[in-house]
Amino acid sequence: MSTKGKVTGIVSNLVTVTVDGPVSENELCYITVGGTQLLAEVIKVTGDKASVQVFESTRGLKNGDSVEFLGKMLEVTLGPGLLSGIYDGLQNNLTTMTGVFLKRGEYTDPLDRKALWSFTPIAKPGDTVIAADWLGEVKEGWLPHKIMVPFAFQGEFTVKSIVPAGEYNVDQTIAVLTDEDGEEVPVTMTQKWPVKVAVKCYKEKPRPTRIMETGVRVIDTFNPIAEGGTGFIPGPFGCGKTVLQHAIAKQGDADVIVMAACGERANEVVEIFTEFPELIDPHTGRKLMERTTIICNTSNMPVAAREASVYTAMTICEYYRAMGLKCLLLADSTSRWAQALREMSNRMEELPGQDAFPVDLSAIISNFYARAGMVVLNNGQTGAVTFIGTVSPAGGNLKEPVTESTKKAARCFYALEQNRADQKRYPAVSPIDSYSKYLEYPEIQEFLREKISKDWVEKVLKAKNLVRRGREMADQINILGDDGVPMSYHEAFWKSELIDFAFLQQDAFDAIDALCPVERQEYMLDLILRICDRHFEFENFEECRALFKEIINTLRQMNYTEFKSQKFNEYEQQLSKHLA
Ligand code: ADP
Ligand code: MG
Repeated sequence: MSTKGKVTGIVSNLVTVTVDGPVSENELCYITVGGTQLLAEVIKVTGDKASVQVFESTRGLKNGDSVEFLGKMLEVTLGPGLLSGIYDGLQNNLTTMTGVFLKRGEYTDPLDRKALWSFTPIAKPGDTVIAADWLGEVKEGWLPHKIMVPFAFQGEFTVKSIVPAGEYNVDQTIAVLTDEDGEEVPVTMTQKWPVKVAVKCYKEKPRPTRIMETGVRVIDTFNPIAEGGTGFIPGPFGCGKTVLQHAIAKQGDADVIVMAACGERANEVVEIFTEFPELIDPHTGRKLMERTTIICNTSNMPVAAREASVYTAMTICEYYRAMGLKCLLLADSTSRWAQALREMSNRMEELPGQDAFPVDLSAIISNFYARAGMVVLNNGQTGAVTFIGTVSPAGGNLKEPVTESTKKAARCFYALEQNRADQKRYPAVSPIDSYSKYLEYPEIQEFLREKISKDWVEKVLKAKNLVRRGREMADQINILGDDGVPMSYHEAFWKSELIDFAFLQQDAFDAIDALCPVERQEYMLDLILRICDRHFEFENFEECRALFKEIINTLRQMNYTEFKSQKFNEYEQQLSKHLA
């Protein structure tokens, strides 16, 4: 018998329910309003009172309405067909809908139950298997999608039978396993998993050992993100968080991309709907959408759905990671999620933390970031979830709780500066404040030495120092005036401008400049450092400025030109007289 209850209090989406039996935190329930059932989640239980957050509008709800608890947590349905899907936080399929919005109380199936998948067995009768072991494979687009022993299966199983290669739908039994008591359990191509529980079906989670290329110079060279690493992009409104995140989504070296979009602007979600399905994958020449899942919050969904969406997106990534794939999770903006937590916490009249966020905000954010990572699967293969979230601090104040908590959890910090955005220095990632802790990892340094060059890390640190020194010189020149400082100050300042204009800035909307492969980044940084190594003799600062402007101009032309084309080489030729 499931627990039932009656509504005894309503504050917007927070509903108090008096219950007649046991309920647990995170358990789901249906509240019946008229003929409609609204999905809700228990967030707190005190005595016979449960506080539940409703995932939909509570319009028309009144005290005394009946509630039925489902005895399960918010789950995501996993199986082939998730890629190229656009879902909301509750995994309603937004692509199969007729209108843009679902009717209240309407929930759709995330998977196409009729579609046939060409299955090839991997396991064979007699094999011993545990949760997440691979039983077989289907092709999802061009990606190998492993059909696994469901994550929830505990203990060892023996494969009793497995179907031969052929076409099957997700609900057909593809294998029968026997558990330790000899009990037979059928397995299909689909399984469910509670979104708030991390999938831990792997042997170990070692430190990351390689970087994930993004084609963005200020990331890959200056502040590289590891495959299986974490990073975040804080920045005031309009500074380029979404543009940068979309560049990473389009270009990131990953097999699977999951985007959790809690749009800040009303039209942003619509743009994702229309723009992403058209994009071409620069790695394969096919549609990027074939290996992308978008979790979108439609504007008619209340705050609770935003919270669900980041967890749903993470769980989908963990699912593909267990297949030995490299997954990239992007969430824009995580501040919207934190605001949802704040709203619920305030409605429950909990003792508030800083800026009225819940006191455990930091722990919630850390636990979420901790689900990313590179893992070694039980069969020795590896998979990864790399996670990058954006944060939109009110007024650009980086001391606010969401930014501070995220800074503790994420290892890369890509701070967008209002100042740089105002000057159109895009991406507006601060070259001074931003960092990647991975650059200090011995494993990552070793990887960079092998992949790029043996003195790569030193070159990057040198470039960073030149930029820092240039900033100091600029301050001095501002205070003392152009004529009040030695010529070497001007030279140092312009060398940093050279790095800024020709390397750190990158046009996300130019067909060539937008994606700069690491080999090209290496080539450009080498060239730039060779110019910086030169000691110039200038009569006056105007001469210094004029020469550097000319060099910057040529280097920027190179960025817009096909790598190593004739034109590119001509530009380089023009620079040869300035090299050390
Ligand atoms: P945010 O998400 O931080 O509010 P957006 O990503 O929407 O900001 O960026 C705002 C605007 O800044 C964009 O519409 C674009 O005009 C400009 N912009 C941002 N990044 C770049 C870039 N790398 N190259 C060119 N323009 C950019
Ligand atoms: Mg944005």
